Amino acid sequence: MNRALIVVDVQRDFCEGGALAVPGGAAVAGEINRMLSGDHGYDMVVATRDHHVDPGGHFSDSPDFKDSWPPHCVAGTSGAEQHPGLAFAEWDAVFLKGRDAAAYSGFEGTDERTGELLGDFLRKHGVTEVDVCGIAADYCVDATARDAAAAGFGTTVLTDLTAAVHPESLTDLMAEWVDAGLWVREAME
Ligand SMILES: [Zn+2]
Repeated sequence: MNRALIVVDVQRDFCEGGALAVPGGAAVAGEINRMLSGDHGYDMVVATRDHHVDPGGHFSDSPDFKDSWPPHCVAGTSGAEQHPGLAFAEWDAVFLKGRDAAAYSGFEGTDERTGELLGDFLRKHGVTEVDVCGIAADYCVDATARDAAAAGFGTTVLTDLTAAVHPESLTDLMAEWVDAGLWVREAME
């Protein structure tokens, strides 16, 4: 059994000061960095990144913050970069998503070096269990974790290593994850 950590979208634009700042994003970046700086025990550590060029209605000048958003994580801009609070750089792979679509799920992402899909990469490396953390809990972490479970990976969301766009939704969301067969725990417990 190999266990992977999937770090979702810890990018400048999703943290304080960014184009689509999620409250607590920078703190989450620091906490994930702290975990990865120690003996974390994962067989593989991968990242996903929003990487938009022309994602259509995902961007809006009058966003509703549910289905449309201010422009963010545009490919090649500083906002698309990994947040500096997450200094970790030894990724086994980084998966870019959303060039021409919303792409909330990391499983829509492809390896920036090889073009391989995240699910194929994990299976190739014998991964059966994944832990998911990052930003935002109620969008890209949610979609990535649900897709991981649907793809047959034993899936755990590390709730203390996430930040939510709508924090008030988190209690209901955690119940939904459990109902969907996901595990929910805190990394630091
Ligand atoms: Zn996006």
